[in-house]
Amino acid sequence: MADCLFCKIIAGEIPSKKIYEDDICYSFYDIDPKAPVHFLVIPKAHITGANQVNEDNSSIVGHIFAVIAQLTKQLDCGDDYRVVTNCGKMAGQSVDHLHFHVLAGRELGWPPG
Ligand code: AMP
Repeated sequence: MADCLFCKIIAGEIPSKKIYEDDICYSFYDIDPKAPVHFLVIPKAHITGANQVNEDNSSIVGHIFAVIAQLTKQLDCGDDYRVVTNCGKMAGQSVDHLHFHVLAGRELGWPPG
């Protein structure tokens, strides 16, 4: 989508610290990390948020979780990490392109603020 920040990152129009890419998803470090390890995994397809996941595109989400399991091993996060997707402004979503935050490397409080 022309006006989407994350679509521009996928297209290479905006630089990112890429970790991983395949036909379905793209992963890069968050520009404003909230933990010692904080990266994002996003679908290449422009899905605006978790509320737009349906039976037709949910396999993308399954794939992303498999990639997250692989990347957390690769980045030595062990088995202690958090996967977060914010949906909607009240939940803190600031970029309208589905993305999964992966946070690791410190104790993470619950519930989030
Ligand atoms: P959210 O607030 O859940 O929508 O998450 C959006 C995330 O994207 C935030 O954690 C931002 O720090 C991150 N972000 C915004 N712009 C960039 C960028 N150019 N490169 C990497 N991460 C970004």
